[in-house]
Amino acid sequence: MSLPFDLRGKRVWVAGHRGMVGQALVRRLATEGCELVTVGHHALDLRRQAETEGWLAQARPQVVFVAAARVGGILANDSRPAEFLYDNLAIEANVIHGAWTVGVEKLLFLGSSCIYPKLAPQPMPEAALLTGPLEPTNEWYAIAKIAGIKLCQAYRKQYGADFISAQPTNLYGPGDNFDLQSSHVLPALVAKAHRAKVEGAASLPVWGSGRPLREFLHVDDLADACVHLMTHDSSPVPTNVGTGDELSIRALAELVCEVVGFRGDLVFDASKPDGTPRKLVDTTRLRGLGWAPRVGLREGLAGAYAWYREHVAAAG
Ligand code: GDP
Repeated sequence: MSLPFDLRGKRVWVAGHRGMVGQALVRRLATEGCELVTVGHHALDLRRQAETEGWLAQARPQVVFVAAARVGGILANDSRPAEFLYDNLAIEANVIHGAWTVGVEKLLFLGSSCIYPKLAPQPMPEAALLTGPLEPTNEWYAIAKIAGIKLCQAYRKQYGADFISAQPTNLYGPGDNFDLQSSHVLPALVAKAHRAKVEGAASLPVWGSGRPLREFLHVDDLADACVHLMTHDSSPVPTNVGTGDELSIRALAELVCEVVGFRGDLVFDASKPDGTPRKLVDTTRLRGLGWAPRVGLREGLAGAYAWYREHVAAAG
């Protein structure tokens, strides 16, 4: 497995190209000189093994980015455990096994920082995987993602397949989900602050205590890191991708209000869960491979808000 792995002229499948991460990968790969192949979820349901293997046999990609997944914020995860576990297990098993059967040269599977134990040491090194109990609000998703990482390791160990994985911290950016019932905190706060500003509301509701700490990575930085890993890494280690900076949910809400221009008060809703207290990934390994993030949170937030106004708010 010689490095750097050259993407030029390769047939590259971004599985999940309509999601926020998939869209960012498609934008990023446009400059790599590769041939992109994609398929919409109406044409191919990745939860169906025969369909997925049939499509792979005909499309014959040489490289695969697995960005397809059932995703969502703390409430969606906690209230739809069967979908988060079954859909993700099925998608990753079908794509990873199918990729191996058609001889894919290299595959990158996207995991998540929620694979680490609830009380892992902070920042969380890759070695913290499977050293303790998971955060209950997202364990369904986490268990599925851990299985995906293990599949990559197993196919590498048994068959010598060059399958790697990346564990991004909390993501945001253009193409995000702004639906308040199923979204993550950052897009939810952007949508709520915008609505509060437009309606002239006195306050902004924030779930939980505001005390949990989170790290936020712009999706364009993630896409760039994935291409870097694809070209510069060949290892069973589930490499973390993050910025190394964290802030409290209260501080995030204050920053969102500033960027959106909402000047009311924050009101914390204790009936909603806090989730894991802290979730900062240790990015020593990725930095050692020569990669660093570029998009600052304030700048990234302003861009995400502009995208929201143009694509979501404008559409009503
Ligand atoms: P997590 O990182 O997996 O816990 O997922 P989220 O991004 O959904 O939530 C992160 C933190 O933000 C949790 O402590 C939530 O309670 C808090 N939070 C505050 N307001 C909101 C909101 O409007 N939506 C969401 N999803 N989380 C919120």
